Amino acid sequence: MFCPACGYAKDAESEGQTSYPTSCPRCGSTGIADTGQRLDVVQLLHVTAEVRRDEATISDRRDERSGKAFQLMVTADVDEQEVESRWFVEGVGLGCTYVRAMDVRWVNLGTPGHGSSRTISGEERSGALFRVCEGCGKLDKVAGKNMTYEHRPWCRHRASAEEHNSTIALSRTLRTQGILVRLPYSVTIGDDFAVPSLSAALLLGLREQLGGHPDHIQVERVVEPTLSDGSGNHDAILLHDIVPGGTGYLADMAESDRLRDLLVRAWLRVRDCECRNEDRLACHRCLLPFVAPRAVRRVSRAAAERHLRTLLALPDDAETGRSPAGTSPPTRRTRTWSLTSSSGSARTWWSGSWLRAPRCTRRQAPGVTPSASLSPVVAGSGR
Ligand SMILES: [Zn+2]
Ligand SMILES: [Zn+2]
Ligand SMILES: [Zn+2]
Repeated sequence: MFCPACGYAKDAESEGQTSYPTSCPRCGSTGIADTGQRLDVVQLLHVTAEVRRDEATISDRRDERSGKAFQLMVTADVDEQEVESRWFVEGVGLGCTYVRAMDVRWVNLGTPGHGSSRTISGEERSGALFRVCEGCGKLDKVAGKNMTYEHRPWCRHRASAEEHNSTIALSRTLRTQGILVRLPYSVTIGDDFAVPSLSAALLLGLREQLGGHPDHIQVERVVEPTLSDGSGNHDAILLHDIVPGGTGYLADMAESDRLRDLLVRAWLRVRDCECRNEDRLACHRCLLPFVAPRAVRRVSRAAAERHLRTLLALPDDAETGRSPAGTSPPTRRTRTWSLTSSSGSARTWWSGSWLRAPRCTRRQAPGVTPSASLSPVVAGSGR
């Protein structure tokens, strides 16, 4: 079952018997108890492809391997017990939480726009799910009729008169280290460009810091939970290690000086990029190398510059974003952050009313179709 408000998910049968929580242990949302939040999920352990010669004949005019779009969602399950450090910037609402172990989960709901819609981690999406054989996991192609070629050679249902299918979602889980960069509502509400542009800017800043492309770090838009009644959650940008367990790299990056330096580097790049004088949203010299093809239309250099300035708490006439050596306290032109750090629960120090604002469920924008690399051929099962 999936929390509608945050990235928490639980296997209802994990404790040997079926049990359903009445509220989300991460954010308190009671929506998790709705039957609509229950979904049969098959965890992808490895993926195989079976090719039949008559289906795979290649035509010059059409290559069916390309262009198949799936409804793919990304969630991050943040357990307070695994939070190692957390700080936020007073008066800005920017937060940074370093989590030493979190589950990043990719859920594939199948062909978009079909089937009932469901809300997972604050996003409402619909997908047709996958109809697979209960015996061998192979994708069912012809509904209502059992065909031998819809099964593996060893499947017990291969010659059955009726179909034995389950309707499932596919998921893949990575347990690793991550940094949640929590964004204030003033940045995220009403600006569809904010999160995609800032996500790319974080990777740009990381490249500037590293001196090379940050191959082992990926970025996703997620929800950072705050335990209340499910309404206190925030949008966050997750930077996570792609190595299971993590490499430890992100622990250093979660220090406020490091993250501020990264944001300043990113801000200077986007502020000065040549494309500000060109008729385009962003370019290959600034943000585009860090953007998935489907998100290109929502990445803007100007949005990144504006929001980075806000997050850095820079005045309009700031030039470098850094304090000159020996300047203390910082001058008006080079203001720095005033931090509050906490090792305790998010609830106590994120409860200021200035942080609260109505949070809308994000809906799929028309015409935007996420594609996925998860293939609907299943191996290994669980719920
Ligand atoms: Zn939740
Ligand atoms: Zn079968
Ligand atoms: Zn540019």
